[in-house]
Amino acid sequence: MGVSTRRPTFAEAIAAMGEEDAVLAHAARELLDARYVAGRHEVAAAARTDDGGIVTGIHVEASQGRASICAESGVASGVVAAGSKAVALVAVLRRRDGTVHLIEPCGVCAELLADMWPDARVWAAREATPEPIAAADLLPFRHTRIGRLDASSKENPA
Ligand SMILES: [Zn+2]
Repeated sequence: MGVSTRRPTFAEAIAAMGEEDAVLAHAARELLDARYVAGRHEVAAAARTDDGGIVTGIHVEASQGRASICAESGVASGVVAAGSKAVALVAVLRRRDGTVHLIEPCGVCAELLADMWPDARVWAAREATPEPIAAADLLPFRHTRIGRLDASSKENPA
């Protein structure tokens, strides 16, 4: 059994979503359309916050790969800066041929999202089928460091 390399198109993703999450997908796509640079800014994400707001973020590629920032991580920072919690997140990828696709978080972002908002609904594509997955379920064997966060962080146990 191989891993599918076909990602759902933007239209396929929208068709699978309810209206609220489709709004997130459109917000991410609008940001990507405005700021896309091949090889530099190819993914954008949008999250719905618990107070009904929308926070967006965009991927920033560095010349040294590890220094790059994913769109989802940018969103996480923005959600915290807004004093909110994320309840849903959608990310989209634009390929160099101009097509736009749903993309799931990488392992690092999955861990971050699960640490912060384990119940958040995160759109992913498994075998090219778009589906919402709880952040905590994105990385079933993720490493957690109990006690690493201080007592004031118990709201987000990790
Ligand atoms: Zn990532």
